[in-house]
Amino acid sequence: MIKLRMAIQKSGRLHDDSMKLLKECGIDINNGVNKLKTEASNFPLEVFFLRDDDIPQYVEDGVADIGIVGENVVLEKQRQVNEVEKLGFGKCRLSVAVSKGVSYQSSKDLSGLKIATSYPVIVKDFLKKNNIAADIHEISGSVEIAPGIGLSNAICDLVSSGSTLFMNGLKEVEVILKSEAVLISNQKLSLELEQLLQKLLFRIQAVKKAKNNKYILLNAPNNNLEAICKLLPGMKSPTVLPLADQGWSSVHSVVNENDFWDIIESLKENGAEGILVVPIEKMII
Ligand code: ATP
Ligand code: ZN
Repeated sequence: MIKLRMAIQKSGRLHDDSMKLLKECGIDINNGVNKLKTEASNFPLEVFFLRDDDIPQYVEDGVADIGIVGENVVLEKQRQVNEVEKLGFGKCRLSVAVSKGVSYQSSKDLSGLKIATSYPVIVKDFLKKNNIAADIHEISGSVEIAPGIGLSNAICDLVSSGSTLFMNGLKEVEVILKSEAVLISNQKLSLELEQLLQKLLFRIQAVKKAKNNKYILLNAPNNNLEAICKLLPGMKSPTVLPLADQGWSSVHSVVNENDFWDIIESLKENGAEGILVVPIEKMII
């Protein structure tokens, strides 16, 4: 039987979330620690564990059909692959930082500087687009110590909280790219593999939607039922059930995480009581 071959990071920041996503998609994988590859027991999927930097190339070459990798790596490696879906984890930004004491007004201040980075392609493109002449010094790790040891005047590196920069006496001055983990695929998948990818994608999207939404239950006074239902459109329309206490109804619906607190406030203003909000495991619209 044909299997979809997926490349994920062997160890590092994307490994656990990638494995978790597969699990949430109902795919059981034997734990692959210290293994090069493993198989799913209940989905036609083989998983290869690789360094993240190599994943775009493996997918372009068709050694793997699909892969999970940061957008930063996809852009840097410039391989011919399709970006299929953003996955909502591994969020970070690729930023330029300079020593705390250096005054910085605009990107023009980078002119003539030496910038240490592991992302020479992306940085070069940024400098070109902004018409800045600066030197790029490519290093593969511990970029944040480069200014401290006199290797460069600035760095361009991945940042999430900024604490590493701070600890090294640096300040973030430009965000070049915002990144998250993405699902990539080979550009010439056979029809059968494409169908398997669509099956997997359907599950991934259901998991993502569930994470962005909450199930809400509340008690509404019947005299304000209409206003309360308007606040909760849900997937089609809310479920309304009478309570034993006449004059009150139980309303069930789905709310988006982003609108959540605004909606709760309006619900309370309209007399809603006993509001319960519970997570959704899967959501199929
Ligand atoms: P590998 O051994 O696979 O080459 P690595 O050291 O290059 O691993 P990690 O540090 O594990 O890579 O980061 C993997 C990806 O996680 C990054 O390419 C990026 O997309 C994402 N990421 C999220 N937050 C951060 C962060 N604060 N710093 C670095 N990467 C981050
Ligand atoms: Zn790497």
